[in-house]
Amino acid sequence: MSVITEVKQRLDIVELVSEYVTLQKAGRNFKGLCPFHSEKHPSFFVFPEQQSWHCFGACGTGGDILSFIMKKESIDFGQALRLLAQRGGITLSPLEAPDKAKDEKNERLFQINEAATEYYHHLLSSTKAGEATRNYLAKRKVTTETIEEFRLGFSPDAWEALKNYLLGKSYTEKELVEAGLIIEKEGGGSYDRFRNRLLFPIRDIQGRVTGFGARVLDDSLPKYINSPQTSIFDKSSNLYGIDKAKSAIKKKNLVIIVEGYMDVLTAHQHDWQNVVGSMGTSLTENQVEVIKRLSNNITLALDADLAGEEATLRGKAILAYSNADANVILLPPGKDPDEVIREDPALWQKLVEQAMPILDFAFQSVISKVDINKAKDKSLAVQKLLPAIYEIKDPTQKFHYVEKLARALKIRTSDIEVALQKLKTARKRPQLSKPTEQSRLARQFVSSAIEEYCLALLLQYPGLRPLAQELSPEHFESTENREVFVKWQHSSDISDLESGLDTSLLEHLYYLVNKIFPPAIRESERTRHFDLANCILRLQEKLSRKLETEKEATLEIEREKGGISSELSKLEEQGINSGQQLQDVFVKKGEKPWVQ
Ligand SMILES: [Zn+2]
Repeated sequence: MSVITEVKQRLDIVELVSEYVTLQKAGRNFKGLCPFHSEKHPSFFVFPEQQSWHCFGACGTGGDILSFIMKKESIDFGQALRLLAQRGGITLSPLEAPDKAKDEKNERLFQINEAATEYYHHLLSSTKAGEATRNYLAKRKVTTETIEEFRLGFSPDAWEALKNYLLGKSYTEKELVEAGLIIEKEGGGSYDRFRNRLLFPIRDIQGRVTGFGARVLDDSLPKYINSPQTSIFDKSSNLYGIDKAKSAIKKKNLVIIVEGYMDVLTAHQHDWQNVVGSMGTSLTENQVEVIKRLSNNITLALDADLAGEEATLRGKAILAYSNADANVILLPPGKDPDEVIREDPALWQKLVEQAMPILDFAFQSVISKVDINKAKDKSLAVQKLLPAIYEIKDPTQKFHYVEKLARALKIRTSDIEVALQKLKTARKRPQLSKPTEQSRLARQFVSSAIEEYCLALLLQYPGLRPLAQELSPEHFESTENREVFVKWQHSSDISDLESGLDTSLLEHLYYLVNKIFPPAIRESERTRHFDLANCILRLQEKLSRKLETEKEATLEIEREKGGISSELSKLEEQGINSGQQLQDVFVKKGEKPWVQ
């Protein structure tokens, strides 16, 4: 039995959650005030039979014992597993040996990066060679304190400077390659990756240097380069400045996301400590995961140019999907946050205060690009914005946007409502009869089996990847499967996945990779395609069934207590006004974000 299974069997979710939330019995289940958002009436439920939890309020999220502790303690999967294992008196022995080796290796990489940081920083702050970079930073109004705090650095215009320095510190050439600091030549030998550049050490939430961003000082290209993917650096899950921003984010319950390194430095210098950098135009799902552990209020301050808008829309789709409260700051044309904060701090303050809800931003960027005198453009705009309107829970807000769209495109609101109705019909899942107790128990095991089967297919047959676009992390209820799926989405192959995965999940990964399929699957690509499509469908059905069961359970309880009307009126307050709509709210969670 794997440690993950053992933890799940040994520990009781009700007991664990009780330590964080005052739970009261509600029928077969328990309810309490949600620990993840503030509320007056309990909408947070724990289901002992399924060993799961769900918030029917603002968060709309749920999961198992592992995801609860991850969210509550702001820790990752590995840390959560270790914490719970310790609690349950379970030793993590079977994988201890490879774990240790890998941890030690990574520890060396962190040390190497730290040594490189100090080397580059010394060159910048105290040598003649660093003078041009110092002047550049002074021109950009970066203070000495900021240079010190963020340990900015300068890499000299030489091929082997860092390499020789670190070899002299008894690190090996192989380790320096693994850290991404030097590049191997084809015919043998190696050279420094970063030459004649301003260096930004990138740290994880714990403050360890995972990699570097590097900028040229003149107009040569590429303007920025980064460390490559290593076993400790993954650009898609790092946020520049997160280690220094985390406490301010928690305190203010707001995170502001900017794009560039300079934007972060200037913000922090001007007392905006809750600012982090996405280090690229599009915010990734992994980054959102990291942020959401700190705050659910997210403000994006991204470039107002075209590329920025497209990227922001993608980022926003992720945010919308994750139920975060997200706003967008529209910067004056041609200005970075860096410039705005420096030149006009009052304007920046005002922009933050007046940040626009994501959907208004989507409207603005879609409608500004179409010619409303053309019928084709009109329907294109409707096509792009309709799914977003469909997702809105609150009927008043929904109507607000229906009207807004009608006004902007000079069409009738009734036409949009008809289109919404069509979308609803198209998305409706088949109704299933209420499961019996026994089938519910059986399904628990079956459901996990489908998840595993689906993952094993994807892992063993890379050709199936495009089909997996239909899947989202929500489809995997078991946290271990969800973790493997999310990491797989961002990795190029198995070994890449292996190095990105927490060591506590390797045993599970190997199990999936070695799962044996029947000959029909092994031999025919067509059968595999068919099989996976079928799996995906079942996962989608499973998710909507689960949400339906949980919803039923909450209503059942209130009915037993004669409190159904108060419960319904509470749901109405949240903008859910009928059984059908209630159903839709949960069903839709199984679907794709609204922007492709
Ligand atoms: Zn909640």
